[in-house]
Amino acid sequence: MRYQPGGGWIELICGSMFSGKTEELLRRVRRSEIARCRIQIFKPQIDHRYGRERVASHNGIFRNDAIILENATSLLDLVELDTDVVAIDEIQFCDRAIADVCQELADRGIRVIAAGLDQDFRGEPFGPMPLLMALSERVDKLHAICVRCGASASRTQRLINGEPARYDEPVIYVGGSESYEARCRACHEIPGKPKVSVAAAPEHVKH
Ligand SMILES: [Zn+2]
Repeated sequence: MRYQPGGGWIELICGSMFSGKTEELLRRVRRSEIARCRIQIFKPQIDHRYGRERVASHNGIFRNDAIILENATSLLDLVELDTDVVAIDEIQFCDRAIADVCQELADRGIRVIAAGLDQDFRGEPFGPMPLLMALSERVDKLHAICVRCGASASRTQRLINGEPARYDEPVIYVGGSESYEARCRACHEIPGKPKVSVAAAPEHVKH
């Protein structure tokens, strides 16, 4: 499917964990394959923070074909001249430069399909996602099912040793037993969360 003949664009698939982002990314990749587009798939080097097994569990395509990105700007050198479609999974782990990189690719006429978590475990915007959501031509926000109440889940609950992770826990957790659940706004628990989030706070109090 050509959205804009001869032109590129950016489409973003976002949502919580377990919302089917990677499946949707791969569905679009498969359709591009049927259309005989030349596709390259990428993912950032660090993806183990949110469960490496999930990415690899989808029909093996990532295990076999995904190119690992050391940093966002390295993507520009890795995209081949005849590539029509660039797919990027777990894009929330890329540095913020990925937004300019996606713009550059789209300007070259490439269809960029990206998937990533829109919020971290605190329910706050994740890395480059706000930029990407603003710059993309198309944004789809997918939902999981809340494991507590069955409602539409927009949040990722982080559990450490079975207990809700505190707000001030580092995003990258080393050691101990951590797991994640999909939850709705009402069931999402972040002990110690301030009224004003870091994301919404004035510049001078950000850390
Ligand atoms: Zn719920």
